[in-house]
Amino acid sequence: MADYDVDLFVIGAGSGGVRAARIAASYGVRVMIAEEYRVGGTCVIRGCVPKKLLVYASRFVGEFEDAAGYGWTVGQPEFDWPTLIANKNREVARLEAAYTTTLERFNVGLIKGRATLDDAHTVRLASGARVRAETILISTGAWPHMGPKIPGRDYAISSNEAFHLPELPKRILIHGGGYIAVEFACIFAGLGSEVTLVCRSVNILRGFDDDIREHLRNEMGSRGITVISDHTVARIDKTGDEYVTHLHDGMKVATDKVMFALGRQPNVTGLGLEATNIRIHEHGGIEVDAYSQTSVANIYAVGDVTNRVNLTPVAIREGHAFADTVYGGKPTPVDHANVPTAVFSEPEIGVVGLTETQASERLDKVDVYKTTFRPMKATLSGRNTRAFMKLLVDGITERVVGCHIVGPDAAELIQIVGIAVKMGATKRDFDATMAVHPTAAEELVTMREKALSYGRAAAE
Ligand SMILES: Cc1cc2nc3c(=O)[nH]c(=O)nc-3n(C[C@H](O)[C@H](O)[C@H](O)COP(=O)(O)OP(=O)(O)OC[C@H]3O[C@@H](n4cnc5c(N)ncnc54)[C@H](O)[C@@H]3O)c2cc1C
Repeated sequence: MADYDVDLFVIGAGSGGVRAARIAASYGVRVMIAEEYRVGGTCVIRGCVPKKLLVYASRFVGEFEDAAGYGWTVGQPEFDWPTLIANKNREVARLEAAYTTTLERFNVGLIKGRATLDDAHTVRLASGARVRAETILISTGAWPHMGPKIPGRDYAISSNEAFHLPELPKRILIHGGGYIAVEFACIFAGLGSEVTLVCRSVNILRGFDDDIREHLRNEMGSRGITVISDHTVARIDKTGDEYVTHLHDGMKVATDKVMFALGRQPNVTGLGLEATNIRIHEHGGIEVDAYSQTSVANIYAVGDVTNRVNLTPVAIREGHAFADTVYGGKPTPVDHANVPTAVFSEPEIGVVGLTETQASERLDKVDVYKTTFRPMKATLSGRNTRAFMKLLVDGITERVVGCHIVGPDAAELIQIVGIAVKMGATKRDFDATMAVHPTAAEELVTMREKALSYGRAAAE
């Protein structure tokens, strides 16, 4: 039998890698993990967590506005960006330390520095040392994609730098239409920046339900965000402290900062993958099976580097399932269907299941239920905002196959609706559930009238 230094070597201490290392170690195997930047990975250091803290900060503006209608007199509120960033940095450091302590508690050997592959069983560390491992897990995550090399592209920041700006930009142009672009547009607008969002598609949030896209775009517009769709950036010029972004049709937008949020690319380059027979999928991620095993039997990959569903809870689940499969004697495939997800825009989005377009392509009959209403809190305050909810139902089986919400607490709501959809709840089950009054969520169990009903079966 070959002599290995460790049973498992994990490359990348982010959401997926840390979970896999900890669970594998709990099964009694010798584990080592390498991290080239900071323990915790994207989610903790420059993703979900710091972003949500910025989202909270940006939403106070609405609270201050609403307060007057409820009888409060609030003086002129003042916002200090450096205070927010310093407090956010402190919380991120606390979480990083907690992750590190967890690894230590489980006797996982932590190597600070980059790790690459020399061959299918050999990891080379930044020091030049080599570690022989029986099994290797690649959990190196993904990196911001900055788009084609247009003139002035280097002036643009990505979400990585957005978390560390020395001051709040008075005007910012964000290029991109995905959830990260939309969330940062709402964060900066809430904190007082003048925001222009430029996206290539006909509307923001490609891949989301069309009604949701339209609704959020209108809401963003009413909060002063300028959305320019169907446009790309051709060039960025810098004059003094000002950036002038030239769009493909000649339109120009002058701002103090330009941010690109054009999607993320799996971290597969420079890893030494060519020293193995690991296959890369056509979508750019490492190709794996349902157990996260790559085309090389002793090498596995989880999380964003596999470009399946790029979310923290998914990376964690994949890492856990890998450890259960390989070390726990419990072969565990990961089910990527009906993953609930949120966009922390203002207002928030929560979705689970099929969009209407997907439902109409896949089902013989689709029943659509929709409602839009003014959230109760906005009544006294007079705030100009509306919530939107949509249920998509398989017209044959009556199962709820999609739920789409825009409005306050949509992310919290969709977590619970996700359970019902995962369990295969029918519209009848929703209707049989007593409403909680007065809430926005009660609309989900009181939508009686179909907005639409169509499909192949309906036409017969
Ligand atoms: C701005 C932003 C907001 C987000 N918001 C959300 C959200 O609200 N909800 C949600 O679910 N998801 C969100 N995500 C996505 C989420 O952060 C990722 O899906 C998740 O972090 C993926 O985990 P991972 O383990 O695959 O990779 P990561 O967490 O990225 O970890 C990979 C780690 O590997 C390290 N690494 C890379 N190469 C090497 C190497 N060769 N050697 C050593 N170390 C290496 C990296 O430094 C990194 O720490 C967000 C992402 C971003 C960028």
